[in-house]
Amino acid sequence: MTTDNSQKKVLMPHQLPGIRSKNWEEVATGYTAEMAFKEAERCIGCKNSPCISGCPVDVDIPRFIKKIKEGLVNEAYSIITKTNALPAICGRVCPQETQCEAKCIRGLKGEPVAIGRLERFAADNAKEDNESDITAIKNGCQIAIIGSGPAGLTCAGALAKLGYDVTIFEAFHKPGGVLVYGIPEFRLPKSIVSKEISILENSGVLIKVDHVIGRIKTISELFEEGYKAIFVSTGAGLPMFMGITGEEAIGVYSANEFLTRINLMKAYDKNYVTPINVGENVAVVGGGNVAMDAARCAKRMGAEIVTVIYRRSEQEMPARREEIEHAKEEGIILQTLSNPVSIISNKDGYAEGLEYIKMKLGEPDSSGRRAPIPEEGTNQIMRVDTVIMAIGTSPNPLIAMTTENLEIKPGGCVKTDDNMRTSIEGVWAGGDVVTGSATVILAMGAGLKAAYDIDKYINISRNQ
Ligand code: FAD
Ligand code: SF4
Repeated sequence: MTTDNSQKKVLMPHQLPGIRSKNWEEVATGYTAEMAFKEAERCIGCKNSPCISGCPVDVDIPRFIKKIKEGLVNEAYSIITKTNALPAICGRVCPQETQCEAKCIRGLKGEPVAIGRLERFAADNAKEDNESDITAIKNGCQIAIIGSGPAGLTCAGALAKLGYDVTIFEAFHKPGGVLVYGIPEFRLPKSIVSKEISILENSGVLIKVDHVIGRIKTISELFEEGYKAIFVSTGAGLPMFMGITGEEAIGVYSANEFLTRINLMKAYDKNYVTPINVGENVAVVGGGNVAMDAARCAKRMGAEIVTVIYRRSEQEMPARREEIEHAKEEGIILQTLSNPVSIISNKDGYAEGLEYIKMKLGEPDSSGRRAPIPEEGTNQIMRVDTVIMAIGTSPNPLIAMTTENLEIKPGGCVKTDDNMRTSIEGVWAGGDVVTGSATVILAMGAGLKAAYDIDKYINISRNQ
């Protein structure tokens, strides 16, 4: 078999910026079979496979890439799904550049192998009847999972493969967590999320939507119902605000509310009646993936001028580089080294101006990035109709408030040990509820770790 010595990845085809900023179709359209084969040929199949050590769910990367080289897409897919229940999702949204691809040997001289794009190719092109290989013999033991984001779904999939009866309780009317309510359609089509979730359901995982644990029932009531172990994966969906004057004005949204209205409640679709107020001038405050998603959604909702306001420089923005570039190509303005100080409203209470101050960068702070410092006397006012706050989130306190003896860290995250065990016997936690807002693959890694530890715990208890 040959190896392609090209220093560059095969380019991912994209919709043109002027076209895509007016529709909700996927921006990156995916490799063709020829492109995937050519890219797969760049993998040299290193013996020690450093790429695997960069993958939180240990996908056997060289082996699945080899199958693509051989034209065996179904087999490539089966290898990936041994440890990754959501490959079409990961192939689209994982920050591979800081995970598996950061470790790829080909990255030493040129660009790493496009592992994420190949993962997406395998997941999108495997045959339907290849999708459920879970035929575990049931062991009669019930496990409850609270929250159906990537952490909960991964934990559920791994436990179902081991023979457990798994029930996921989800607060919303649709499963998927941020994958359905946060990440927009043009980055992650909801049909892809539904497809991967239905594969899990076909494997026997039961998902009960509209079930807010802490309101409908508590964790101790779940134990009374016969669940032998519980995994808390409720994410970090509580939005933060700046606490500045005028933030209560009409037209000021948290990014969570704005994106939930658009993605989960389909405000962009004329067949839905979800109300949303997107004016001509939109300011998005923040510099992460969430800010980029909110800005790009605002543009597609018809806003004329969309400005992302960020207190550090573009270099320090935590959003993926690719998302920042896509946003700029779509006409989003980055107003960096600027921080809002107040929101001005008209006599009817609607936001009409955003006052901000210019910032400069000082010495590095605890995050390792240079600290933003206000430059006195540089205040300016930007005309706005809509302001979207995308400055971070924390875990919703409901589970903590309704669960006795559950240890919580300062900041509201659940405390666990290295195996995701909490302070309560029989209760594990993982994903954003433990780490604070992080990534899909880290949440999945935590779900997988918890599943294996739950299995160990149940086996020990049974043998006692
Ligand atoms: P979540 O996905 O938040 O899921 C938690 C689930 O628990 C939700 O469905 C919630 O409704 C449910 N829940 C909460 N409380 C209860 C309760 N009491 N009872 C029952 N159910 C409950 N990461 C990336 O890797 N790449 C990206 O491109 C990316 N983009 C992002 C864009 C946006 C807009 C956002 C908000 C995040 C993004 N992230 C991205 C981060 C990533 O989505 C999260 O880190 C990941 O979803 C966390 O998974 P989780 O399972 O811990 O929680
Ligand atoms: Fe292939 Fe890169 Fe992994 Fe080596 S490190 S096996 S080249 S993907």
